[in-house]
Amino acid sequence: ESTHGDLRQALHIHVAGEEVPPPLTSFAEMKLPREIIRYLKEAKGIKKPTPIQIQGLPVALSGRDMIGIAFTGSGKTLVFALPMVLLAMDAEKRLPIEAGEGPFGLIICPSRELARQTYDLVNALSDAIKKERGFELRTLLAIGGIDMGEQEHLFKRGIHMIVATPGRLIDLLNKRRVSLAYCKYLGLDEADRLIDLGFEDDIRTVMDYFQGQRQTLLFSATMPKKIQTFARSALVRPVEVNVGRAGA
Ligand code: ADP
Ligand code: MG
Repeated sequence: ESTHGDLRQALHIHVAGEEVPPPLTSFAEMKLPREIIRYLKEAKGIKKPTPIQIQGLPVALSGRDMIGIAFTGSGKTLVFALPMVLLAMDAEKRLPIEAGEGPFGLIICPSRELARQTYDLVNALSDAIKKERGFELRTLLAIGGIDMGEQEHLFKRGIHMIVATPGRLIDLLNKRRVSLAYCKYLGLDEADRLIDLGFEDDIRTVMDYFQGQRQTLLFSATMPKKIQTFARSALVRPVEVNVGRAGA
């Protein structure tokens, strides 16, 4: 435990919460599928995890709720995108999704551009698995300005994951085009911006559509009171991982 503490201190990783999983300094130690490790290395030039990934991925992959705070450019996207893909892979293996069903996982972003970037990573990770394991994971990009008709084939076959902005997502939920009955994973990217843009009520509405247990991950560059209060009501026994700001 003291070596974990030393490692965290050296990397400016601050943690809070009960029974925090240990930090892991390589993707191999995290037991990621080898095709994912290869994709990260060969396609993205990502060879070793950043500090938020060193502590955040073990927490997220353990199934715990998590609050992740780290500066822009520190690699937060992978921390909430990869566990969703692996969870979807696992769920699909156990009980393949059927027409009109899904998703297993959902990520909400405050802007179309961020949603697109996250969607691209989720798709690339899914493709990396598909090549070797032979099964497909389908992701819906639910943002304004997109013709949902173009993604109609996804609805027909069943959707494993959704990356969305709040407005378009609420629209799809209200029209019963998608259901969160089987959804077990919620990632909130740039939660400070989501709240500042006035999406708090929308996110609460989305959370009401979930049934049963849910893993919730909330990421933010800052942690003002408003977000702390929101996190307390939306997360269960979370682990907080804060990189770079002592005591914040
Ligand atoms: P954040 O959301 O924290 O601002 P991103 O997830 O958008 O950061 O990542 C910023 C950039 O860093 C991206 O181009 C991403 O591919 C790259 N990146 C992510 N993880 C690593 C890593 N472990 N090593 C090197 N580059 C990385
Ligand atoms: Mg980001």
